[in-house]
Amino acid sequence: MVSGGANVRPVKASPEAQLRLLELADLDAELSRLDHRRRSLPEVAQLAQMDTRAAELRDGIVMADTELGDLGREQTRAEHDVEQVRSRIDRDRARLDSGQVSAARELENLQSEVQSLLRRQADLEEIVLDAMERREAADARRAELATEQASVAEQAAELTAKRDAALEEIGEQEAKAQAARTALAADVPADVLALYDRIRAQQGVGAAMLRRGRCEGCHLALHTVDLNQIRAAAPDEVVRCEECRRILVRTAESGL
Ligand SMILES: [Zn+2]
Repeated sequence: MVSGGANVRPVKASPEAQLRLLELADLDAELSRLDHRRRSLPEVAQLAQMDTRAAELRDGIVMADTELGDLGREQTRAEHDVEQVRSRIDRDRARLDSGQVSAARELENLQSEVQSLLRRQADLEEIVLDAMERREAADARRAELATEQASVAEQAAELTAKRDAALEEIGEQEAKAQAARTALAADVPADVLALYDRIRAQQGVGAAMLRRGRCEGCHLALHTVDLNQIRAAAPDEVVRCEECRRILVRTAESGL
């Protein structure tokens, strides 16, 4: 059976209404092109990459800030220790210079303590210097990240503007196609339109032209027996391709 099948009441539409189905199929193809374009805008993928990089940069800056805070505290602590050691050395030296310490053993002890405090001071100053150097490096790294962050934000703003412009254009074309589709659909009987939409939902394309004995939906040549059935079918009978089940629309080019 070329029509809806043995157990299905044949669907009927005037040849003009059937031709509308081809225009409808063109509009639906345009609508799906627009939908595909919207979902595959290069700006969308690029923005996703920018988002990923921006998040990495934010994390990197947080880590650099934490490191800077830690190093700052380390430096302050070491500087404070240096101050304590220094004032202890000053006190010891003052006692040595005061002449109040006379016992040889006590003098020796004090002098030895000063020597060991000086070594301790040198070690602490080394720690201060090291913390300062690491802070400088962390500062430079943070500045680099912040520079890249600003450039990423700028690029993201440009991409967002481009994406929004593209989306607006797509939206306008879509509204136009949608309005034309609504007007066209009004000329097609409801049951034919429902059949068309059902096939479109399954196959992507609901109706195709029969051109020179070939279905333009699946591009297969129809068997002679099917062509003969179509020849015999009334002009207002909605016929379907035996291969892809799409609605086949007959025109002067059908080769019947
Ligand atoms: Zn077909």
